[in-house]
Amino acid sequence: MAVIGFIGLGNMGGPMAANLVKAGHSVCGFDPVPAAIDAARAAGVVIGASPSDVAREAEIVVTMLPSGKHVLGVYDGPEGIVAAVKPGTLLIDSSTIDVDSARKAHALAAARGAASVDAPVSGGVGGAAAGTLTFMVGGEAEAFERARPVLEAMGKKIVLCGAAGAGQAAKICNNMILGISMIGVCEAFVLAEKLGLSHQSLYDVASTASGQCWSLTSYCPVPGPVPTSPANRDYQPGFAAALMLKDLKLAQEASQSAGAPTPLGAAATQLYAMMAAAGDGGVDFSGIIHMLRGDTA
Ligand code: NAD
Repeated sequence: MAVIGFIGLGNMGGPMAANLVKAGHSVCGFDPVPAAIDAARAAGVVIGASPSDVAREAEIVVTMLPSGKHVLGVYDGPEGIVAAVKPGTLLIDSSTIDVDSARKAHALAAARGAASVDAPVSGGVGGAAAGTLTFMVGGEAEAFERARPVLEAMGKKIVLCGAAGAGQAAKICNNMILGISMIGVCEAFVLAEKLGLSHQSLYDVASTASGQCWSLTSYCPVPGPVPTSPANRDYQPGFAAALMLKDLKLAQEASQSAGAPTPLGAAATQLYAMMAAAGDGGVDFSGIIHMLRGDTA
């Protein structure tokens, strides 16, 4: 069992750290928000005084922070965790961040002689609590093998995607497909309504025909056909539109820096930005059907 530092004990990091404690690891965590600290302490996490305090004694440090700016802020500088860790420490960043910042974080770790992986997740708060997250990992094979048992305490599918930054690349490419496909499915349901075709009839055909996709068959944006989808609980998330917008913006940044044309990704980003600007950023992303239909969520 390892001594693990955990920085960022929010909606995702809190339950992830709790699962590491349950697996028998010794976990020392930090977060500036008192409520996050209290919940983590109740789950058995020892609370440190600062990120560097947490990192100093750790064999492995996990970060679960809002953005690349936060991750580099915690990693870098004289008060940062990279300066504090012992050489040979493994740094695991599970935040969803831009690929360029992820690569900078790897470079900072390497300069200190620390191993590192980027390991963003899918599965949401429910998956974090249940320990069923999917981890998409970028980094050296050796660092991946060291990270694997720790990630297995928090998730059920662990995939090595390639070199530094490849985990973030996989995450944003996947979520760009998801954001675009959800809009496509919503548009089809709205068109079906106008054409007098019932939701169930469209579902019965498309779910077994060439229109089949996860946004339709697992996360159907109208109530009825898939009882577990957020549409059946008034579009409570699930996966909030604001988080989808964040991931689509990361995909747009990456497509610009890599020179990859993503016109549908750009259009999807604009549509979720409109949804968020209308005050519906906290609504499940499948609730974009209301905006496309011309009503409000
Ligand atoms: P959150 O805002 O609930 O948690 C982030 C935590 O980081 C907060 O508690 C905040 O206080 C803390 N923090 C900020 N700056 C810090 C610092 N300098 N030192 C220590 N802690 C600091 O966000 P979340 O929902 O837990 O998401 C975390 C990451 O996971 C994000 O990158 C998000 O995109 C990604 N993610 C979230 C979900 C989801 O469904 N919530 C799903 C997949 C991925």
